[in-house]
Amino acid sequence: MKNILITACTMLLMVSCKHGQPDDQSIKISKELINTLKDIKLDGHAIINNINSPNVKLKSIDIGDCKWTEGFWAEKWKQAEEVMIPYMGTLLKGDIGHGYNNFKIAAGLKKGVHKGHWWHDGDFYKWMEACTYLYGVNKDQEIINDLDEIIAVIAKAQQPDGYLSTPIIINGNLKPFQNRKHHELYNSGHLLTAACIHHRVTGKINFLEIAIKHADMLYKLFHPKPEHLKRFGFNQTQIMGLVELYRTTRDERYLELAELFINMRGQSEIDENKSTRGYPVGDMVQERVPLRKETEAVGHAVLALYYYAGAADVYAETGERALIDALDRLWDNVVNRKMYLTGALGQSHYGRSSRKDKIEEGFINEYMMPNLTAYNETCANICNSMFNHRMLGIHGEAKYADIMELVLYNSALSGISLEGKHYYYSNPLRKIKGALDYSKMNTEFPQRQPYLKCFCCPPNLVRTILKSPAWAYSKSENGISVNLYGGNVLETTLLDGTELRLKQETDYPWDGQVNITIEACKEKPFEVLLRIPDWATNTTIKVNNENIEGVGEGSFLIMERRWKAGDVISIDMPMAIKFIEGHHRIEEIRNQVAIKRGPIVYCLESPDLPENSKITDAYISVKNTLKPAYKPDLLGGVVAIEGELMIRKDELSKMYNEITKLEMTPYKTQLIPYYAWSNRGESEMSVFMPVIWD
Ligand SMILES: [Zn+2]
Repeated sequence: MKNILITACTMLLMVSCKHGQPDDQSIKISKELINTLKDIKLDGHAIINNINSPNVKLKSIDIGDCKWTEGFWAEKWKQAEEVMIPYMGTLLKGDIGHGYNNFKIAAGLKKGVHKGHWWHDGDFYKWMEACTYLYGVNKDQEIINDLDEIIAVIAKAQQPDGYLSTPIIINGNLKPFQNRKHHELYNSGHLLTAACIHHRVTGKINFLEIAIKHADMLYKLFHPKPEHLKRFGFNQTQIMGLVELYRTTRDERYLELAELFINMRGQSEIDENKSTRGYPVGDMVQERVPLRKETEAVGHAVLALYYYAGAADVYAETGERALIDALDRLWDNVVNRKMYLTGALGQSHYGRSSRKDKIEEGFINEYMMPNLTAYNETCANICNSMFNHRMLGIHGEAKYADIMELVLYNSALSGISLEGKHYYYSNPLRKIKGALDYSKMNTEFPQRQPYLKCFCCPPNLVRTILKSPAWAYSKSENGISVNLYGGNVLETTLLDGTELRLKQETDYPWDGQVNITIEACKEKPFEVLLRIPDWATNTTIKVNNENIEGVGEGSFLIMERRWKAGDVISIDMPMAIKFIEGHHRIEEIRNQVAIKRGPIVYCLESPDLPENSKITDAYISVKNTLKPAYKPDLLGGVVAIEGELMIRKDELSKMYNEITKLEMTPYKTQLIPYYAWSNRGESEMSVFMPVIWD
């Protein structure tokens, strides 16, 4: 069904696509909208639909092409289907989460006041997007029926001019776009993205119609660049959303508008005025320096990474050198100077940028990496992987997929409990009992919470778990790249339209042995790109038992040959247990080490310490012999790291204490994967431990 131009009439009668059923709903569509819809090409059904993007080396596979079949991600995916999505639906459609109620009230179908934060609509859209990914694989018609009902309510809530943000619609005293803290464009971004995904997966246009009406309103409002709206495009999910809408409709106005939201940043005097009151200005919202001139990641980490991800989408279409140069610089700054070992971003809840602007939930100085007070919002970590997924497409280099993997296994999954119903907003690398006064904090908690008032992270994480099979592979010019490892089947078409079917069998991330069997492919030669992770030293690869030369970690191994059904690629990535220390400029972890095995970062948690010991009492010797041990009954089944720690006994009660002879007792215990901490009651935890060099 590639390159099919659908006319408005046929679209109204029957919208069909690879993943959807005919849509016989009669939908009232304005003349203007018909003109837009008639040019829609159902070309590609990917999350980032870059099939026609001229500046992308690795193109996305379609939603549903890859399915997790066994092992780690298959279990997480199933849990998202059976627990996370239904539970979150109960929250968001009930009286706890407000998401659906707000739309019903705005639509005049229910009485009441708006509840929740300004950006709550956006979080509801994220849940809808996640439901759509679920349908893309399991084809459960009930999901679509449920979404249709919700979409009808959203359509009713939408204003005649296309405006759609329930806090403003419900509150009669507020007008649209008065104050940017109202997060209207954040809601817009998630609306546009969710609607595009819904269209790609189902072929339906009921949600897309709302998105187009809304984007047209934004274009009319923002395209003349009125002075009073120049500083509005912050928390810029709308850039990603507009590019996807451009990719869906091929209407260039949406790409133009996406670019405009980049170009407007850094063009105004940074002052406080009526439209900015109530939210920090300057570096906090990346408005002090134009993106193309920026050299440092600053401000709110979620805002920054959504901004970079959106700019990467724009570059994918325009190919502007200055834009990708800036993104390369910022990637390097983020990954090599401001990122935690877990792939997490945003070192501090409160602080200053290097240009002295007040910032919240974001970046502070390079190499300044506190553990206990690390903020690391789950969303920021996920945004890091979203940005890296886009950079992987653009540059086609394995280092971006390394970061995607690092985030997925560590600082993304740490945001949700093992049973799938309790959340963390911030993801510190250490917790010490009594060190923080949680009663004074709004997003940090002593334990995981069944609901977060600021609910941006949970649906973001669930949609990411459901997106993950679509991140596992990409299409190269003449072949396929294997980005992520995990038991799965892939059934896709290569860029030349030929079919490719393969299966991956592995117990990754607990074991580094992966077997990929080609099940069907074209006769002509094509390439298979295998990501050899940056940690995977001494990896060996065989094809049908024949050794392959030239394997190096941190890159794609490109194997071009005449493949045939039955060919088996065997990858053996030795999962050595590694002691990791930080750059000498990271003061917070001087003389401390963390333990990493494969892509998994480990931590020590207090249930694994002797009674009456503190997490800060534990030291680790680099001469220690650590051993991996698979424990099916521990934390849902994990490989723990067993070994001996040294526990010191003295009390450092004063601020500074004279060193006396240390009394240390050896203690045999285990380290657990960081993502699985805080599932055994309230605990202390640390990723980094003071080291005994011996
Ligand atoms: Zn969040």
